[in-house]
Amino acid sequence: MSDKTITRFAPSPTGWIHVGNLRTALMNYLISRKNGGTFILRIDDTDQNRSKEEYVDGIKRDLEWLGIQWDRVERQSQRIEKYHEAADKLREMGRFYEAFETPTELDLKRKKQLNMGKPPVYDRAALNLSDEEREKLRAERGSGAWRFKLKQERTVWEDGILGEVSIDGASVSDPVLIRADGQILYTLASVVDDTEMGVTHVVRGSDHVTNTGTQIQIMQALGGTPPAFAHHSLLTDPQGGALSKRLGTLALKDLREQGIAPQALLSLMSRLGSSDPVELRVEMQELIDGFDISRFGSAPTKFDAEDLKPLTARYLQTLPASAVAEDIRALGVPEAEVERFWAVTRENITTLHDLQGWWTLITEGAEPEVDDEDRDFVIEAMSLLPEGEFDDNTWGDWTAAVKEKTGRKGKGLFMPLRKALTGMQHGPEMGQLMPLLRVVKARDLA
Ligand code: GLU
Repeated sequence: MSDKTITRFAPSPTGWIHVGNLRTALMNYLISRKNGGTFILRIDDTDQNRSKEEYVDGIKRDLEWLGIQWDRVERQSQRIEKYHEAADKLREMGRFYEAFETPTELDLKRKKQLNMGKPPVYDRAALNLSDEEREKLRAERGSGAWRFKLKQERTVWEDGILGEVSIDGASVSDPVLIRADGQILYTLASVVDDTEMGVTHVVRGSDHVTNTGTQIQIMQALGGTPPAFAHHSLLTDPQGGALSKRLGTLALKDLREQGIAPQALLSLMSRLGSSDPVELRVEMQELIDGFDISRFGSAPTKFDAEDLKPLTARYLQTLPASAVAEDIRALGVPEAEVERFWAVTRENITTLHDLQGWWTLITEGAEPEVDDEDRDFVIEAMSLLPEGEFDDNTWGDWTAAVKEKTGRKGKGLFMPLRKALTGMQHGPEMGQLMPLLRVVKARDLA
């Protein structure tokens, strides 16, 4: 194995990937890029029934949207032979055994153990079967499931986030690596891949910690060198509750459709749960340079999708009109007004979807908001508003005329007019907005 850093992101294509997956992907990606290494996109598709091509495409689309570039793609479904070779090796070593219990029988065993106050660890009954008994079971039930015989000793590793972790082999069931129906399970496939592909660092969720103890044992049995492991905390909702149920609504594809900027997601997910502040970073290189896995903590990490909005807004504010011209033209904004439209709206939107609202306001006018005590004032002001197209001087000239006629000034002058024209208390510079305004509904107040 070379000392080159090799990481991988290994999603199972059984659904759309979400913010939790992104965190894993990003950490592995940033580690590889920081060290000039290789980042593999590994599709864990040994489950033929649940894996779908649609999701493989979706995963690639999401990563591309975020600018997370993989160096190559590996697919477990194309490597089945390798996994069988490894299984044969384990069999020859006496570390692999066939077990015939049905799920119901296993369940019953577990319940009994729990009733007796024992940990529900597989009792290895299959290890005591005689050849005859095994043949008989095979004849009755077909092939069994293949379990890896764990050493009943502690497996210890220095975790990149959790520090020293130790898993007692005696407290874990011998893992099934090949199911009775012949399906190779991820635990075996992953070990074979990580070893053969020379993966040097594996970052994944802390739900995999026990798995890691098992996988290190299998790797060692097969003569491989385990990579460095780091297990990041799991995300919770803002109240600290499990996010798992809500992850379905936090798919990257949905966030994209909501108009969340990739830069917002990357900025948040590459720092959330670390001691570094979350700040908008526009360039991937900044995220790479500033990334340090040791700054992440083991405590569950609160995630609030709302945080993506101000980051998106801040990102959009950095863009020149040319970067969004296509979106703006698509609304029907004439070429000559694209620049001004962006200048007027960029600080008044959360996502690009909000542009539509401003264009509607400009072309159709807003329902005026008029306080009772301002009604006569606004009606008077409207009588002074020039007909025809507005220009750069309209707001200044008009408000000066209104001031002179009514004696109002400052906020008492400007705010009622803003509310009458836009229906809102906040918004763009009125002087800049006026030349774009086509319709002023407040004219009809009189
Ligand atoms: N396919 C596995 C998962 O999505 C990969 C875990 C790993 O990184 O090893 O949980």
